[in-house]
Amino acid sequence: MEGMSFSLSERQRKALSRIVGESHVLWREEDLLVYECDAYTLEKHLPTAVVLPGDPREVREVVRFCATEGLPIIPRGAGTSLSGSVAAVGGGVVVSLSRMRRILSIDPRNRRALVEAGCVNLHLTQAASRYGLVFAPDPSSQGACTIGGNVATNSGGPHTLRYGVTTNHVLGLELVLSDGQTVWLGVRPEEGDDAPGLDLRGVVIGSEGMLGIVTQVLVRLIPPPPARKTLLVAFPSVTEASRAVSAIIEAGIVPGALEMMDELIIRAVEATYQFGFPQGAGAVLIIELEGVPSGLDRLAAKVEDLCRKANACEVRVATTEKERNHLWKARKGAFGAVGRISPNYLTQDGVVPRSHLAEITGWIEACSKKYGVTIGNVFHAGDGNIHPLILYDEQDPDQVRRALAAGREILERCLELGGSVTGEHGIGLEKMDLLEKQFGAAELALMQALRRAFDPQGRCNPYKMFPSSRRCADFFPRRQIAA
Ligand SMILES: Cc1cc2nc3c(=O)[nH]c(=O)nc-3n(C[C@H](O)[C@H](O)[C@H](O)COP(=O)(O)OP(=O)(O)OC[C@H]3O[C@@H](n4cnc5c(N)ncnc54)[C@H](O)[C@@H]3O)c2cc1C
Repeated sequence: MEGMSFSLSERQRKALSRIVGESHVLWREEDLLVYECDAYTLEKHLPTAVVLPGDPREVREVVRFCATEGLPIIPRGAGTSLSGSVAAVGGGVVVSLSRMRRILSIDPRNRRALVEAGCVNLHLTQAASRYGLVFAPDPSSQGACTIGGNVATNSGGPHTLRYGVTTNHVLGLELVLSDGQTVWLGVRPEEGDDAPGLDLRGVVIGSEGMLGIVTQVLVRLIPPPPARKTLLVAFPSVTEASRAVSAIIEAGIVPGALEMMDELIIRAVEATYQFGFPQGAGAVLIIELEGVPSGLDRLAAKVEDLCRKANACEVRVATTEKERNHLWKARKGAFGAVGRISPNYLTQDGVVPRSHLAEITGWIEACSKKYGVTIGNVFHAGDGNIHPLILYDEQDPDQVRRALAAGREILERCLELGGSVTGEHGIGLEKMDLLEKQFGAAELALMQALRRAFDPQGRCNPYKMFPSSRRCADFFPRRQIAA
């Protein structure tokens, strides 16, 4: 496929329309513009067409047609990816799952649900809550992102610390391969919880749409904890808050969530949500403790003590469910709130061992100075998962260049500290070069061989993830804002 770019003939358009209906094939430039990028807005590639199938049969037929025509396919959920993983590099047919959003069944006795891949994450938890259950992975984008997208990026969220990421909550899935064949991987809806053989379900989770199109997902549901206590703790600085995080984990306490926001983010979030965050704090932790009601007060007292020893200046406890929800709404809206203070921002996603949180925040500050860019910080601190938000203005190419350089240096430092170049947002287009720094040639070759086993021609979401793809992707013209 190297060097090719694609256009849709009238015959192809009509054939796709016969499968999904005319109104579900988009091909005019003004309609395609919406799909030229995801939430990583630095690179823009116009797809050849967007097709919106209504059920797995239509997905299969679309994929089969694209296979016979040699057209690349790009699976797409809600397009909230922060790494450019749904950009149609060189063109290709975006297969949007957004019409396939049904919850097919909820089985409260076996604590499972079967959903279509386009089901919105939050809608599943809302439906499951009628049975006293939840879908645990709760990305901050959960009001928009889809279960298929969560599977493809192995999403986490604030509660990942205690409950794990998407892979820990997916039992099985249906996958349409790039030749149109359908396979079911992992536990089937009618089976018990074990699936023998190689864990191909696990291989698909986190594969960023490069192994096929997920059409249905069988997920695990869990009951919420019997009781919760949500603390908001203010510190003079990020360094002191980081020390408290280490102290809490060292004490053997695993909160449901342990999140951090720095001063710049607190200001942006306060302006948007008016929660009443402590003004002047250098950082806040949101610490959600879970367990049986009788033990929670003691646990909270212990956590407060650890925070005070780390120099906390204020500790508050959410007293009502309404207050807790307001706090989480503000935290989960943090990325969006930054839009109030900067025309653009680059959301980075790296991981360091928790014990290095203070060190990486020092490094981020140094990068901010070195490149002359403002950086705000939101961390899933309990996991060591950092999200520096690097502010820039896309109208100024030099700012774009500096923001990218700062982001790269931060991620390289994460690797040096024994961490990872992504915690949850994936590699996509953005971080392809960095994968080479994290893995050796043998590991990368094995991953690519596995990919070829699923998709021999590499037609499914091409030019993503692997460093060699970056070099190919650079061949294609992109509506990149700068440098
Ligand atoms: C404000 C904001 C907050 C966020 N917070 C978090 C967070 O807390 N935790 C987190 O993990 N992420 C977070 N993200 C990133 C993003 O929301 C997640 O990666 C999410 O899982 C993407 O879902 P989506 O439906 O939007 O997928 P898309 O963005 O449409 O696609 C993402 C990738 O999945 C593939 N894909 C999508 N659907 C399918 C399918 N059915 N079959 C095969 N491949 C598919 C695509 O090809 C692409 O590679 C956030 C993003 C934003 C904008």
